[in-house]
Amino acid sequence: MKKTVRDIDVNGKKVFMRCDFNVPTDEEGRISDDRRIRGALPTIEYLAGHGAAVILASHLGRPKGKPDPKYSLRVVADRLAELLGKEVLFVSEPEVTGPETKAAAAALKPGEIMLIENVRFRKEETENDESFSRELAQLADIFVNDAFGTAHRAHCSTAGIAAFLPAVSGFLMEKELRFFGDALENPQRPFTAVLGGAKVGDKIPLIENLLDKVDRIIVGGGMAYTFLKAKGYEIGTSLLEEDKIEMTRDLMKKAGENGIEFLLPSDVVCADAFSNDSPHDIYAADAMPADRMGLDIGPKTQKLYEEAIVSSGTVVWNGPMGVFEMENFSAGTRAVAAAMNKCGGTTVVGGGDSAAAVRQFGMEDHISHISTGGGASLEFLEGKLLPGVECLMD
Ligand code: AMP
Repeated sequence: MKKTVRDIDVNGKKVFMRCDFNVPTDEEGRISDDRRIRGALPTIEYLAGHGAAVILASHLGRPKGKPDPKYSLRVVADRLAELLGKEVLFVSEPEVTGPETKAAAAALKPGEIMLIENVRFRKEETENDESFSRELAQLADIFVNDAFGTAHRAHCSTAGIAAFLPAVSGFLMEKELRFFGDALENPQRPFTAVLGGAKVGDKIPLIENLLDKVDRIIVGGGMAYTFLKAKGYEIGTSLLEEDKIEMTRDLMKKAGENGIEFLLPSDVVCADAFSNDSPHDIYAADAMPADRMGLDIGPKTQKLYEEAIVSSGTVVWNGPMGVFEMENFSAGTRAVAAAMNKCGGTTVVGGGDSAAAVRQFGMEDHISHISTGGGASLEFLEGKLLPGVECLMD
């Protein structure tokens, strides 16, 4: 177990807290979804309430290692102040840890909160450069990482800084680790993994890692067609990763040897073209026409997947079942989201597209945990060590 803010005395200390404030913004630079800021509030309030001077840091967008006003965290500071109902001091310097920032951090009193400028204004951040890590560390006495979304990156503010300060997790990070950790190490059974999305290549390490952990694997989305091809089916113009056919065949064989139920679509919705307006029809998975593409799972498959999900003790879902962004091909993903809501077990949605889909459908209420980290949750499930977690004290 990694230590959390509860395990360390923060009273009278300066705490450097890495958050994931990488919020979406509209064309005028206004925040269009402040969920990530809200997600950090419990830890910020805990620290300030326990006598810490709180120095917050995050990245925003991809400023490519140099200052860019478009990616300034000023909008985040303003929203944060509104949400907290108290002042958030914001210091914007191109060098991020410049003299003004240092002075403000040094003068910050217990219970006060400041935000420093976008750490990716410095190119050293993503290089995990030791001297920038030290500069960040010099602002504080303790490092708190609450940014699960960037925990798979070894950057100065996510991992490097921990070489110089006692390091613990925040509450959001703790929650993410608990849900994914429990799923992998101590799942209520049957344990089902629902996998979709476009690229099968991205999901192969994940499937390999799950082969000795899960009871069922459910496959949908664009990645399903490479599996169907491996079974010798005609898949028309559907997504195919030719060079992965052999590997998918292997995975299905290993799943069989391990006694894992491996569910593939039994029917699919095929269209003439990749467009919501394209004419489309339902076909059995082994009877797809050569000139059409599969863009969603069919109604029989929806039912089959729903039953498998609802009867599970633990479900982890990563990747949409079809092109959910297009209304006509969203029914499969919607059915999986509904089944996740209906399941009485622990249901976990990996971040990224599946989380976006669940929100788009307004089906968040009865899901145990919707992760804030797409890439990070994927790497965690692949069995990889996340640098932003590994660097924390045991
Ligand atoms: P990924 O980035 O690999 O998680 O894939 C997510 C994307 O896969 C979403 O934008 C979906 O629209 C897309 N997708 C899902 N099913 C299909 C499909 N059958 N054909 C093409 N794209 C798909």
